[in-house]
Amino acid sequence: MQRYFIWTIGCQMNKAESQRIAGYLECAGHRAARCFGEAELVVLNTCVVRQSAEDKVLGTLGLLKGLKKERPDLRILVTGCFVNSDVDGLRKRFPQADFFFGPGAYGQLIDWALREGVAGGERGLNLPVNCSPCALVPIIQGCDYFCSYCIVPYRRGRQVSRPLDELVHEVQLLVKGGAKEVTLLGQTVDSYGHDLPEQPDLADLLARLNSMNGLARIRFLTNHPKDMNPKLIEAVASLDKVCEHLELPVQAGNNDVLEAMRRGDSAEQYRELVYAVRRRIPQVSLSTDVIVGFPGETEEQFEHTLSLLEAIGFDVVHVAAYSPRPGTISWRRYEDNVTREVKIKRLNRVERLQAVISGGINSQFRGKTVEVLVEGKKKGKWFGRSRGNKLVFFEDGNDCIGQLVRVRIHRTSPWALQGNIDDDHPGKEEWKWNSLKA
Ligand code: SF4
Repeated sequence: MQRYFIWTIGCQMNKAESQRIAGYLECAGHRAARCFGEAELVVLNTCVVRQSAEDKVLGTLGLLKGLKKERPDLRILVTGCFVNSDVDGLRKRFPQADFFFGPGAYGQLIDWALREGVAGGERGLNLPVNCSPCALVPIIQGCDYFCSYCIVPYRRGRQVSRPLDELVHEVQLLVKGGAKEVTLLGQTVDSYGHDLPEQPDLADLLARLNSMNGLARIRFLTNHPKDMNPKLIEAVASLDKVCEHLELPVQAGNNDVLEAMRRGDSAEQYRELVYAVRRRIPQVSLSTDVIVGFPGETEEQFEHTLSLLEAIGFDVVHVAAYSPRPGTISWRRYEDNVTREVKIKRLNRVERLQAVISGGINSQFRGKTVEVLVEGKKKGKWFGRSRGNKLVFFEDGNDCIGQLVRVRIHRTSPWALQGNIDDDHPGKEEWKWNSLKA
């Protein structure tokens, strides 16, 4: 038995993959350590989507170099988007690492573990350990879009969907293990299925999962606007377990910038899509991603992004400053000519505007009751998410973890809602099963 520590940064996909690696190591008889210092086996699950993330990976590899000198038997594995196709080059640069394997390449991990005697005969597995009420399920790997700024297709490869029956079976196991909510993951999750023989789509998968007893909620992210079709919108509107929350990256509000980004749609098409979604799902909660300071972005073009954010009124905006990624199309074609100072200024302007918009949207919840799936406790308060993905805090003396409760909201901020259990409501369990029609 060895103790392992998995260090993870980056997207939900990385988090899901780390959970699966932990599942594998647990099946092989190993146990989790609390930090690098306690571990005999370390896995770094990395991200290079921005320079700041890459810097953290490099810093951690530097730290581990020192640890490896002190303890040569420490085994270090590196996975995630830091691992490029030049593994020999990586080995030379980072001799402290014992093994590199690509994102989601569990077969390579298993072969290594068998070779090194880290595992016995275990080959299957891949389910996370300590199933939380909210489980992450990768359904499609890679991306075919090649947005000009993005490194993901170069590191995760082209789109590969997992078979629908395999996913249904996996979700059944997760529900058996205690999951109440699943989030289906993909870089472009709404393009799910087109590469499979029978070409099912995400709406088909949602319909299958919606009829599963014991499963309370279904989410999916991240979408590409071009793949968000009427059938999928209809599925979100009509399937009772599918939450009314869509992550729909826009990236910019100016058409020339969008073209240079190779996003494949215009600001007008994006707005039309949002209108179509809101017409069918009026209560939908929308999140988006925005990049500021793309090469050549003028002040006026940036203002178009602000206008779009104001016009649409997203619930949440994730904003990032453009970061040139070696090997990508924009890195090859364009000079990174918006200064760091201007990028930060624009980023702050988006954040300030969005705080006002989110604050206004969230204030409408005051006095209303929302359904919350409780995920844990922080600073003495239970927390969880509403169907619209709002973070909700409340106090209660009972153990609420994994329960669906109703919370009456009395305080709001741009980032979270606070409230109390709705006492007018029937008991939690009774309400849960009635409301889920399970
Ligand atoms: S859709 Fe674009 S931004 Fe998203 S992963 Fe694919 S290439 Fe990257």
